[in-house]
Amino acid sequence: MIVEWMLLGLLVPVAAASGYLAGRRGSDKSSGRRVTHLTSSYFRGLNYLLNEQPDKAIEVFLQIAEPDSDTLETQLALGNLFRRRGEVDRAIRLHQNLFTRPLLSAEQRGLALVELGEDYLRAGLLDRAEALYKDLLQVEGQQQVALRQLIEIYQREQDWDSAIAAAERLCESGDCSNVELIAQFRCELADLALQDGDRESARGHLLGALGDVPDFTRARLQLGNIELDQRNWRQAAKHFEKVAKQDPDYVSEIVHPLLKALHELGDRRRAHRLMRELSQRERGSASLLGLVDLTEQDEGRLAAVQLLAERLHERPSVRGVRRLLDLSFPPAEDRESVALVRDILDKLLEKEPTYRCGRCGFRPRALYWHCPSCRNWGTVKPIHGLVGD
Ligand SMILES: [Zn+2]
Repeated sequence: MIVEWMLLGLLVPVAAASGYLAGRRGSDKSSGRRVTHLTSSYFRGLNYLLNEQPDKAIEVFLQIAEPDSDTLETQLALGNLFRRRGEVDRAIRLHQNLFTRPLLSAEQRGLALVELGEDYLRAGLLDRAEALYKDLLQVEGQQQVALRQLIEIYQREQDWDSAIAAAERLCESGDCSNVELIAQFRCELADLALQDGDRESARGHLLGALGDVPDFTRARLQLGNIELDQRNWRQAAKHFEKVAKQDPDYVSEIVHPLLKALHELGDRRRAHRLMRELSQRERGSASLLGLVDLTEQDEGRLAAVQLLAERLHERPSVRGVRRLLDLSFPPAEDRESVALVRDILDKLLEKEPTYRCGRCGFRPRALYWHCPSCRNWGTVKPIHGLVGD
């Protein structure tokens, strides 16, 4: 619905301008008829929008705008409509033609460039869009628009160095709302460095991200994993503990590596204490299951069963029941009915996605920092609840 309202915002001036021009140009009688016609067309278009039929609405608004297409504003709105309707070639031609007009002011030229850049982006012509927005950087008052679009282009090209440079330049020009985005780009660079086996560069990028945003979960998690690989148990535990404290949504991501680091350090007391604390706050079941494992190892199976059964009464979860089944009926003592229930629970857990994007609802089975569906950053999180983590 947001798109529809944006469309409405775009079209109100078109309809108003058309009505005004018609009223100014025509004879009294015919202009009166035309204004009435425009008004009724306008409300017909509005009605389509309200009924969530944007294609029909665009059709009506095009009919309103086309006869009076000589003003720059109407041309820009028309081009925008073509683009929204998927007629990108037509939008490109229209916007390119604007540059052949004599006496285009710098501001008007900037507006036309912005629209043409949108066309190129929509058509997937990233090189052309990039060149155009670089030109736009020279136009007074259009630098921020150009930088925002360049950041978008560099993200699509996965050119993280250029994306960081553009975002930093945008910040220098007064818009620092992208600081988390810069941190994400640094984490992407860290991933690439790790793929090349260059841990030191990766560490540098991640520390840079934490310099931008001190409690940046993704960078902490990645640093923790690097330290774990390097067998720097104390450092690893420190990073994972910080993640758990600053962002309870990601507790399920740190329970296993944190327990591994504490096990290597021989610090079982701290492991018990942390799992107990986290399991009180966490909405998922990962830390509870961690605590159950520790309890089984240190106090025996019965104590673990008792703890888990108690907690499952308070907050049931499929993963918890599955663990309870293993504790109560070890595979060696398996009966047919128990094996059947175990099988069903496994299938249930296997089918369920483990993560969900809070913005678009995409439900992957792996953690993505950049949602593949809506392209937002940091919106995919572990699912909590009955069948979640
Ligand atoms: Zn998404």
